[in-house]
Amino acid sequence: MPMKIIEHINSAKKPFASFEILPPLKGTNIQDLYNILDPLMEFKPPFINVTYHRSEFIYKTRENGLLEKVHIRKRPGTVGICTSIMNKYHVDTVPHIICGGFTKEETEDALVDLHYLGIENLLVLRGDPTKNEGSFVAEPGGHKYAIDLVNQTMNLNKGKYLEEDLKGVNTNFCVGVAGYPEKHHEAPNPMSDLRHLKAKVDAGAEYIVTQLFYDNEKYFQFVKNCRDIGIEVPIIPGIKPLTTKKQLTVLPRIFNIDIPDSFATEIEKCKDDKEAAKIGEEWTIQQTKELLKGGAPCLHFYTMSKVDGFVRIAKEVL
Ligand SMILES: Cc1cc2nc3c(=O)[nH]c(=O)nc-3n(C[C@H](O)[C@H](O)[C@H](O)COP(=O)(O)OP(=O)(O)OC[C@H]3O[C@@H](n4cnc5c(N)ncnc54)[C@H](O)[C@@H]3O)c2cc1C
Repeated sequence: MPMKIIEHINSAKKPFASFEILPPLKGTNIQDLYNILDPLMEFKPPFINVTYHRSEFIYKTRENGLLEKVHIRKRPGTVGICTSIMNKYHVDTVPHIICGGFTKEETEDALVDLHYLGIENLLVLRGDPTKNEGSFVAEPGGHKYAIDLVNQTMNLNKGKYLEEDLKGVNTNFCVGVAGYPEKHHEAPNPMSDLRHLKAKVDAGAEYIVTQLFYDNEKYFQFVKNCRDIGIEVPIIPGIKPLTTKKQLTVLPRIFNIDIPDSFATEIEKCKDDKEAAKIGEEWTIQQTKELLKGGAPCLHFYTMSKVDGFVRIAKEVL
């Protein structure tokens, strides 16, 4: 029987991790994805998250020299993959759903599809700007912030559809949302970001998954700040081991996070990526042990669909 994420958290008898995977590149055989997931099943993850990737557009030069705007969707298949994983491994799945690129009507149809498929867990996000946009632009007739999508989902849970005259069945979605221990990069200050996070929870989100971080103090302080302003739901730490030297500069830029100096110094000393990955793994093992000891409800591993390191880490920690 499918379970809600909040039920998995509340009924867990021992520490567990959920794994977040990316849909494979378009044109890839689904078996490649199963090869990634098979070794993770040893750890009995109660649920697997599958990210959503919207289309981008690029300009291609045609023979006549003119530029043509071409839409590209590199990683479609989020919903299909969630269903395949449920059927093959009998674990719950959490598709990520985003505001960007969808009208409210398209979102409603997607939620109806998910409901029919028996998928009752969602991670609700705004989505990042596309590479061509400087800042996030909502689809005309779509949502601007994740809270608007949380509200739409909660309305559907009450049987309230977009067509005013339609009184439909109640869906039964359990919604998680994103939180940022080091602040979302667009937020003017941490308090403003926290207020908007609280609004998502007040609207009906039942748990929070954090952006990745490497400094546990930032997570523990964030949890305290959340509790201080009245956010009571579980806050799942998002974890990604550092695997290359280059990530020392790439991760802070992409995710707007700090890497603690003692860790950064160790990575700088590494002669190659193999050494860096080993130090990264050791850091994650210490980090996750401390998080679980400090009361984290479970762990959320950002695998980026590269799982070797996670198998070793999970063996040490779970
Ligand atoms: C666990 C996790 C998983 C993710 N998975 C995906 C994925 O699968 N696909 C994907 O495209 N992206 C994903 N992302 C990235 C995410 O879409 C981006 O971080 C995005 O920039 C913000 O999303 P959000 O849901 O936090 O947005 P929001 O909660 O809407 O917040 C965005 C910004 O707006 C501010 N804000 C919120 N509400 C208001 C308001 N009412 N008025 C003014 N300001 C407001 C917030 O403080 C914040 O600065 C993920 C992020 C996390 C942490």
